[in-house]
Amino acid sequence: MSFDARDPYDAAALYDMWLNCQGCPETFDFEPRRPIGLDYYHEIGQRAKKERWVIHEQPDEDEPDGISYMVLCPQCARRHGIRPDYRLRSHSPRAIREICEAMDKARELVAA
Ligand SMILES: [Zn+2]
Repeated sequence: MSFDARDPYDAAALYDMWLNCQGCPETFDFEPRRPIGLDYYHEIGQRAKKERWVIHEQPDEDEPDGISYMVLCPQCARRHGIRPDYRLRSHSPRAIREICEAMDKARELVAA
């Protein structure tokens, strides 16, 4: 398994950099032991999924790509009666694809 832009958990980890609960001061505090890159964010996303954080993609007119992510820690999710949704989206958001491409290019530059 590697980074999947259609997985809101991977996408949100990449897009937001930090997963902060929007219902309380809780931060998803986990730092993979690997260089920053797509796999790094994949590991964060999948760990958040395992710990039952809620990450929902939602339409957002204020964001350039028209989406943002709702992030809730397991406690807040339970309090609000919101269940995690682990399904993959059928599309990958444009902003996420662009970040992926930029990171690929950066990696090529480092490798060269
Ligand atoms: Zn919370």
